[in-house]
Amino acid sequence: MLEINPISAFSDNYIWLLRRPGGAFAAVVDPGDAVPVIQRLRQDGLSLEAIMITHKHGDHVGGVKELKRIWPEAVVYGPAGEPIPALERALTDGDQIKLDGVAAEFLVLDVPGHTEGHIAYLGQDALFCGDTLFAAGCGRVFSGTHEQLHRSLQRIAALPPETRIYCAHEYTLDNLGFAAWVEPKNKDIAQRRREAEETRAGDRPTVPSRLGLELRTNPFLRSGEPAVVAAAERYAGRGLQSSAAVFKAIRTWKDREYD
Ligand code: ZN
Ligand code: FE
Repeated sequence: MLEINPISAFSDNYIWLLRRPGGAFAAVVDPGDAVPVIQRLRQDGLSLEAIMITHKHGDHVGGVKELKRIWPEAVVYGPAGEPIPALERALTDGDQIKLDGVAAEFLVLDVPGHTEGHIAYLGQDALFCGDTLFAAGCGRVFSGTHEQLHRSLQRIAALPPETRIYCAHEYTLDNLGFAAWVEPKNKDIAQRRREAEETRAGDRPTVPSRLGLELRTNPFLRSGEPAVVAAAERYAGRGLQSSAAVFKAIRTWKDREYD
């Protein structure tokens, strides 16, 4: 059984810590800051086997060099299509990685859009998707395109619904506010919002979520739903002919009027 725990960093980042109960090794996903990772690994007597990076942004790679200095044997995995500090294993779609100490295997998916070379790691019913899919939301389009992000999200949407979504930020409550703008009559969104409010009031993470819940409540995975199409067309002030156009309209709507 793989144990996966969040290490909080900055104001709302999650660095995911992977280990086996009782094991001596750990892997981390997107260590934007080395300090809280070093603290946790020392406290738990773990040595770092792998650093898995989803994309190039500073809040995901900022701690890599310092962790590598302390644990030089840790292998740095990351996207082939982006500049990643100390990168040793440049990954693209379909690659597989095997972590012997943590006893886990992951398949690499190309999920560009937030950035041009963003990747995700899929394994053990978990998806580490960085800033591509968030709980009830998705990343902004920075150095990729809306078309890429839409395609990447559709790919994720086709994974088994029980897949756990380990995204890299605690944005859930905020995202659910926008989801309710798009679909004010969606009862699953209303219920999820109440639950997320309670979870956050107790200072607990809302992540991971399950893909099945995202499919019912995340407007960025619902660009084919009539209610979402209608809301996007109202915002755009014209008919939208494809789910890609609907996706682009709601992403633009959130950027311009909600955030
Ligand atoms: Zn990012
Ligand atoms: Fe980020």
